[in-house]
Amino acid sequence: MTIAVLGTGLAGLACAAVLREAGKDVVLFDKSRGYGGRVASRRRDSFAFDHGLPAFDPITTGMPPALTSLPQWSDYGRVAAPRMNALPRSLGESFESRMNTRITAIDAGTLDLTDEAGALHTGFSRIVVAIPAPQAQALLATHGEAFAPLDEATYSPCWTLMLGGTGEQTSIPNRIEPPDGPLALLIRDDAKPDHPAPSPCWVAHARKDWSITNLERDAGNVAQDLGAAFASLTGIDPSAAPYRAAHRWRFCRPERVVRHPFLLSDDTRIGACGDWCGADRNGGDALAAWRSGEALARIML
Ligand SMILES: Cc1cc2nc3c(=O)[nH]c(=O)nc-3n(C[C@H](O)[C@H](O)[C@H](O)COP(=O)(O)OP(=O)(O)OC[C@H]3O[C@@H](n4cnc5c(N)ncnc54)[C@H](O)[C@@H]3O)c2cc1C
Repeated sequence: MTIAVLGTGLAGLACAAVLREAGKDVVLFDKSRGYGGRVASRRRDSFAFDHGLPAFDPITTGMPPALTSLPQWSDYGRVAAPRMNALPRSLGESFESRMNTRITAIDAGTLDLTDEAGALHTGFSRIVVAIPAPQAQALLATHGEAFAPLDEATYSPCWTLMLGGTGEQTSIPNRIEPPDGPLALLIRDDAKPDHPAPSPCWVAHARKDWSITNLERDAGNVAQDLGAAFASLTGIDPSAAPYRAAHRWRFCRPERVVRHPFLLSDDTRIGACGDWCGADRNGGDALAAWRSGEALARIML
């Protein structure tokens, strides 16, 4: 019998890898077209951006073996080349995968999955739900007390700005953390190792409070405002950039996590994992997601 893993972010992929290593058959599901979840990259024309996780936070010990071969980018951390989503893609592509498939219901008796088009996916002995807590709650709220802690997890949002083809400004560092203002972090993505873009590609993260206040605004207007903040910090005119866009992450980083490293139903057939779990956070939320996925897989074997 096969194990279904819902979500191909770091938690789902780490979980799937451990299960397969132990000889289990695994099928991946994701509502998106590509693997990686918040390890996300976008290509437009000749530009490329990591508009999700910019780099794996630097750590001295405890990096999972699957990530140790990633190139180091200055002292900012490890990055996948040519873009961050190359990592989840290479991990995910070796599994049978049903992408563009949002699961909307799990039958607690048969473990059949229903997707949003109404199609049924059957034949599973176990289900792993590796998606952000608020989305997991929608699937698991009726699956018993074991999943009640999902209520405890909260996330902060983040608007990200992408600018492709801005003018050169060599005196500006590749990574800037402004102390105040709408932007919390500016990263020059084309400075990352083996990045493919021939011209400057910047990604900027809005500060948490700014993202909360502006959460429901139109992306075009947000790009305009964040572009103005970018200009005042760098002296670079964003209106000259051929590519400018904003992306909203409603669930960007966990604010409050649950106490457990994963959640498991009483009959152990359904488990949930992700960055919202109380896994070891050395290496940030990204590695916490990874460890949570691995821990759930080990208990399910
Ligand atoms: C802008 C940004 C900056 C960040 N910076 C850092 C940082 O500096 N350091 C750090 O450690 N972390 C950072 N993070 C957080 C880090 O990226 C995440 O903690 C980690 O990637 C989460 O992995 P995950 O597997 O738990 O969830 P996700 O990556 O969210 O994966 C969940 C997957 O489930 C899929 N899915 C959801 N619902 C369904 C459904 N019903 N059916 C099927 N599929 C579904 C989604 O499409 C997604 O692919 C950042 C994130 C963002 C967005």
